[in-house]
Amino acid sequence: MTTSRSYNPYENMLQLLDSAADQLELNLDDYISLRYPERELTVSFPVEMDNGHVEMFTGYRVQHSSSRGPCKGGLRFAPDVTIDEVKALAAWMTWKCAVVNIPYGGAKGAVRCDPSKLTKKELMQITRRYTAMILPLIGPEKDIPAPDLNTNADVMGWIMDTYSMFKGFCVPGVVTGKPIEIGGSLGRREATGSGVAFITNEIAKKINIDLTYSSVAIQGFGNVGQAAAYLLNKEGCRIVAVSDISSSFYREEGLNIQDMIEYTNHHPHHLLEGYTAPGVSVINNQDLLNLKVDFLIPAAKENQITSENAGKVQAKVIVEAANGPTTFNADTILKERNIIVVPDILANAGGVVVSYFEWVQNIQSLMWDENEVNALLLKIMNKAFDEVWNLHLKYHSSLRMAAYMLALNRVVKAKKLRGIFP
Ligand code: NAD
Repeated sequence: MTTSRSYNPYENMLQLLDSAADQLELNLDDYISLRYPERELTVSFPVEMDNGHVEMFTGYRVQHSSSRGPCKGGLRFAPDVTIDEVKALAAWMTWKCAVVNIPYGGAKGAVRCDPSKLTKKELMQITRRYTAMILPLIGPEKDIPAPDLNTNADVMGWIMDTYSMFKGFCVPGVVTGKPIEIGGSLGRREATGSGVAFITNEIAKKINIDLTYSSVAIQGFGNVGQAAAYLLNKEGCRIVAVSDISSSFYREEGLNIQDMIEYTNHHPHHLLEGYTAPGVSVINNQDLLNLKVDFLIPAAKENQITSENAGKVQAKVIVEAANGPTTFNADTILKERNIIVVPDILANAGGVVVSYFEWVQNIQSLMWDENEVNALLLKIMNKAFDEVWNLHLKYHSSLRMAAYMLALNRVVKAKKLRGIFP
């Protein structure tokens, strides 16, 4: 695992924002408000644990911008999460929603806890108390949480229930990524991975890589990593390496992804720990990032490709399924080495696009079929990809810079149209 003590994801986001503003020749007055989140809430709350003792937990909800619509963003559970991480993630949501042009602003939430050490009952209590504490901020027309690192459909169901109890009636539109039976959308669970697969397809076409002969390494084998691995494998890609927090695996001829997914389904913490199969070797997590492959897909967490290891990456293309896996300085090194990076705010936007569909279905009390969801997702992702690609050609910029320019332009325009500033 790559760590960098001085790494601050919010500073990283600000560097990108300032560079994009510079390229667009914006005055500081035009975008200064976007350097600050609109709202930050820190909460502390008690939970009675299964052993009868009371433990205190800290949670956050940050709303970066509501200029283009209600705030939207995931909720993560992690023992080391910081307010700066949540602020960065909230801002990335603003840019992501603007890149794919859906009518949302950006937000993010987190609770400092280690889910691997908690029972399901304790997780439910934490979720319910956290929801009660952030209740004034959320709602279908204000701010809509969704799953992220270490949270899933169950957690969204508990948030929906807690919010609905306070309101006195059922409010499915307060969260997305819920179980289908209580208002979730078909296709939402796989949506981020589907978007990653669509975008990988598009970039492969642009640079003449035949997906059916391509090799892929994926860091992170949770919701996003598994769906991306499964779909790309179905397209014919050889997934030569995958990893999770417990271990990393390699097979030159390609791993049996279906078998690995089934293995995690039976593991108490959904991990690959202890997985064995003929021809599969265990490798170092860091070595996975340095493999000579066509596509490297970081799908775990931020700050993985840094100035310390960017010089060793041998992939032709990095498709960022995780949020913020590449630091600002690493980006410069990768650019010098002609390694293409498809940025997170484009590559992993499939999740929020289908979240948007789920919210629309909830508001209208409609249920779309899965083909409808996937066809519209494909259309939106491909349009966003083309817009970013064309801007990158026009400005001779990286794809990341082009995505930021597209997003920033849309958010600044919204602010001006609303008369927030001249
Ligand atoms: P998840 O909790 O389902 O899975 C995370 C995976 O990463 C797990 O397999 C975990 O073991 C692994 N992991 C954690 N640290 C690791 C490390 N150091 N090395 C290797 N593997 C490690 O989370 P997820 O929902 O799949 O989210 C993954 C990333 O994608 C996050 O950055 C998240 O913000 C981003 N993302 C998620 C969604 C979504 O819809 N869930 C949408 C957009 C972006």
